[in-house]
Amino acid sequence: MQHTLASEINQTGVGLHSGISTQVRIRPSEAGSGRYFVRVDLPNTPIIPAQVAAVNQTVLSTQLGKGEAHVRTVEHLLASLATMGVDNARIEINGPEVPLLDGSAKEWATAIASVGLVSQPSSEDRVLRVLEEPIWVRQGDAFVCALPSEEVRFTYGIDFDVKAIGNQWYSWSPGSDSFATARGASRTNFAESFLTEIAPARTFGLLHQIEQLQQSGLIKGGSLDNALVCGPEGWLNPPLRFANEPVRHKILDLVGDLSLLGTFPCAHVLAYKASHNLHIQLAQRILELADG
Ligand SMILES: [Zn+2]
Repeated sequence: MQHTLASEINQTGVGLHSGISTQVRIRPSEAGSGRYFVRVDLPNTPIIPAQVAAVNQTVLSTQLGKGEAHVRTVEHLLASLATMGVDNARIEINGPEVPLLDGSAKEWATAIASVGLVSQPSSEDRVLRVLEEPIWVRQGDAFVCALPSEEVRFTYGIDFDVKAIGNQWYSWSPGSDSFATARGASRTNFAESFLTEIAPARTFGLLHQIEQLQQSGLIKGGSLDNALVCGPEGWLNPPLRFANEPVRHKILDLVGDLSLLGTFPCAHVLAYKASHNLHIQLAQRILELADG
């Protein structure tokens, strides 16, 4: 069995980097079609699959593209669809960037939970890739690795030179067989865990980097309403939703990037000070191994 949405979801908002307001309409899609974007504002409404091969930029967010068409900052929406059990979805968008909303995946995940899913009989088995040996990628002291495991687990570490963030580690597993089958019960557990532990964690940034990013033409849509900002004296816009909200958000980004594999690998994915670029490099290595 595969799953799609029971009815459509509509959402409008501003993109973090472009500052452009877009409208997103997520519609049910047939079995085997996967998750894919459609740029409904462009001639011939090009389709951009939510797959590793379509990634064409990873600076501060993950961008997918096909030909001239692209869609940016896909990670929070895709993490929500994948973890909430939506195998097939047609994501229509009328601009170049997914709305940031409150900076977390809460609104996407809540909307998916409220419309619900329908099962789709399918001959195609969406089995997990079982990892036989560790895979890792590294850049300086940052790394991401995937270790063979009995369960799907994500662990993340960050280390910032500001007291309010400092060193944080968090490990999240949806449960022993959550991803392994399309059985209703395990999917439900997984969705609940995502909704409460990961989805509410918001995007965060450091005050001293913000001006520099804005000068580079980035984060035009960022504000104190959609991102936690940390200065030398502490958070500018408390309260936090979790004491370790930043590292939980990193897990959200990691899960969103790895969702581009189609199904998550049955592995313990462990990341330290990583980035979208390293997350995607790991996904590429996992695919190479599967193909090789
Ligand atoms: Zn993020």
